[in-house]
Amino acid sequence: MQGLMMDYQLTLLPMLERARRLYPKKEIVTKAGPSLERSNYGELADRVGRLANALARLGVKRGDRVATFAWNNLRHHELYFAAPCMGAVLHPINLRLPGDQIVYIVNHAEDQVLFVDPTLLPAVEKLAPHLKTVKAYVVMGDQLPQTTLTPVYSYEELLRAEQPDYAWPALGENDAAAMCYTSGTTGNPKGVVYSHRAIYLHSMGLAMADSFGLVERDVFMPVVPMFHVLAWGTPFVCTMLGAKVVYPGPHLQPRDLAELIQAERITVTAGVPTLWLGLLALLEKERYDISSLRGMIVGGAAAPRSMIEAYQQKFNVPVIHAWGMTEMTPLGTISRLKSYQTSLPEEQQFAFRAKQGTPNMGVELRGVDETGREVPWDGKTIGEMQVRGPWIAREYYRDERSPLSFTADGWFRTGDVITVDSEGFIQIVDRTKDLVKSGGEWISTQEIENAIMGHPKVAEAAVIAVAHPKWQERPLACVVPKPDYKDSLTKQELYDYLRPRFDKMYLPDDILFIEAVPKTSVGKFDKKVLRAQYKDYALPTG
Ligand code: ADP
Repeated sequence: MQGLMMDYQLTLLPMLERARRLYPKKEIVTKAGPSLERSNYGELADRVGRLANALARLGVKRGDRVATFAWNNLRHHELYFAAPCMGAVLHPINLRLPGDQIVYIVNHAEDQVLFVDPTLLPAVEKLAPHLKTVKAYVVMGDQLPQTTLTPVYSYEELLRAEQPDYAWPALGENDAAAMCYTSGTTGNPKGVVYSHRAIYLHSMGLAMADSFGLVERDVFMPVVPMFHVLAWGTPFVCTMLGAKVVYPGPHLQPRDLAELIQAERITVTAGVPTLWLGLLALLEKERYDISSLRGMIVGGAAAPRSMIEAYQQKFNVPVIHAWGMTEMTPLGTISRLKSYQTSLPEEQQFAFRAKQGTPNMGVELRGVDETGREVPWDGKTIGEMQVRGPWIAREYYRDERSPLSFTADGWFRTGDVITVDSEGFIQIVDRTKDLVKSGGEWISTQEIENAIMGHPKVAEAAVIAVAHPKWQERPLACVVPKPDYKDSLTKQELYDYLRPRFDKMYLPDDILFIEAVPKTSVGKFDKKVLRAQYKDYALPTG
């Protein structure tokens, strides 16, 4: 027997429509210089219609790629809906990538129109001669500034010339809505194309109370850039719910974030750990009222346990640890305690919360050993994490490398090595390429660096593998002391701190004090750069 339900396609337009009808007064705020620009979902819906008309006038058709080169702001949010709802494909570009990689991805995606923030014009002007498919540039401001780009239009002038009504096409849920490219890989970035259905289901997934758990009452601040996996899907879920959004624009210094949290009474925010480590250092010195925060979602790289503890104990702010990937729209797992775990001793609660957590509804996950068998849930045996689900890519966009990452039976190989404990909580041991292979044993660099970051005098730490004549590889720790301890922190102190926590073989062979850990284009520790820098580092012998 067949079901008797409507054939209702899961597309993005109903999210926008719902916000327009139910939440026209709810605000979308953008920090622009010293001031805050305020709009709302009523205006958003109107402007998205005008923008779609403008895109059509620029010649954008179904399936065409519309690129953005922009920070987190209202106009970017408008593009998040105008392009996909008219059947085009939104393509936010990671503006921190090296120029040659940006050129590669624009040409590979065959972007037709490129939207650029006025402050980012010089970068795009430099690249423009190499962009082969871009037919029009739009500067995301009030008026057209002086520029060498051509043909070029002003965003607001385009919108003023159009009507808010747009004849939205009936799209299929498997039509492409957006695309992003991965960073941090060797070789050219790989493209991932998201369907309307994937984003729709992912948004419902994020809204689940045991997931991000966002609600209409929330005031959400996406610190994660809108070019980093669609700001982790948060502009969509906020629109779907009618939740107020506060965009920091290019203002991402700890002080900017603290001021915004205080002034707008932010309830939930999200970003990579390096940002929150920076904010923590500020909050430990200066007073800000961040009591409105009920959740700080941290992902993209491992959240150090010491940071989770500090926010909880000093500021009563729950850090919620999550794991995801560009290939996964991006949410995979989230660390929320189960009901009966909340009565565990605090120490054990933090141990669970520092793991990457359990798979979100919608994500199936397994750890697989070298023989292809699923590893037991014993919290010890390591395996490669593989996933599948409705918001996980099945291949890379026009890329020969796809077969390396997708199994014949339909799973995505994440390249992360994990353990799974008896409660189903995963722990990322390392990215495969970061593991230290020491005399037939694998050493987790994440585990050591997280422990070092627990030392009260340490700001940041990254551990890398360095070649070793006897053991093949050994760990080297690169440590950034907090400014007050720059001249006083010693290796000896750190070894004394690590010795009770690790077996001798896991201790780094040497500890170097450095100025700062290099960061990737999305703000993660860039261990590739460190590895290259210390490739020939002579570890002490004996
Ligand atoms: P990029 O490759 O550009 O960094 P992604 O943001 O897609 O792109 O990176 C995904 C990878 O980031 C994951 O495979 C994993 O190694 C790492 N990662 C993401 N979240 C976490 C986390 N909570 N803990 C540890 N590693 C994480």
